[in-house]
Amino acid sequence: MINGFFAIDYQVHSLRSHDGQATIRDQCLRAIEIGLDEIGFSEHKDFDPQESAVGYFDYALYRNEIERAREEFGCALNIRLGVEIDYQRWFENEIRDFLAIHAFDFVIGSVHYVDGQMLMTPEYNAGKTVEEAYQLYFDAVADSVRSGLIDIVGHLEYANRRGVPAFGPYNPTPYRDQVAGLFGEMVRCGVALEINTAGLRQGVGHTYPCSAHVQLYASLGGKLLSVGSDSHDPHDLGAFYKIAAELALSNGIEEVCVWQDRNPTLIPLRMGE
Ligand SMILES: [Zn+2]
Repeated sequence: MINGFFAIDYQVHSLRSHDGQATIRDQCLRAIEIGLDEIGFSEHKDFDPQESAVGYFDYALYRNEIERAREEFGCALNIRLGVEIDYQRWFENEIRDFLAIHAFDFVIGSVHYVDGQMLMTPEYNAGKTVEEAYQLYFDAVADSVRSGLIDIVGHLEYANRRGVPAFGPYNPTPYRDQVAGLFGEMVRCGVALEINTAGLRQGVGHTYPCSAHVQLYASLGGKLLSVGSDSHDPHDLGAFYKIAAELALSNGIEEVCVWQDRNPTLIPLRMGE
């Protein structure tokens, strides 16, 4: 429990991701120290051959380390085996084949690239207006939902990480209808929205997604919520959890999802002091 809230972190990386900074054991120790009820590891799985980390993911090693952590910490902490899939439409069949033979508790779909170009880099932005740059990103997220392959949309509006430096402060208004369509699809398909707190420490100044879009999701009937810090280092684990929980509650979302074997269970956020 953190600040009276049932506390999860479902966007966590370890040395089982190419860019992780800590062992699974170290992240679990930190989780217990800060009062997390449940930790969901979401190691990166990449498919784009241009991505230098494409061959890094090792399922057997990962699963083994999770099982050892469960033996050591299982009484104090629920530990979930998840994956953050880098989604691009052109390798959707490879993702499908991969998920058919590897069991996970939950699957996050994240868009970091569109058509092989990293979001909001000069090569991506070339020839696009700011609106086009964001619209293509939201289109790609909608494709990830329609694929039927994912349980959670990871860090929606992550495009802002480089979009804000490239284009200036983010105005969500022009994308409202498009994002409403995306959320409608998520509600229909039972795909959860993640409130990712990394934006609060990455200079963006808001969560991914921004509060206006959490409100829009709730207003369209969205109830499936995940929360993640995108921690690659134990220092960031569970960071800004109170802000995420209060953002959800202020919009009438009163529960968070925990996942086992890709089935969600809703747990009330408020536990009382
Ligand atoms: Zn990511």
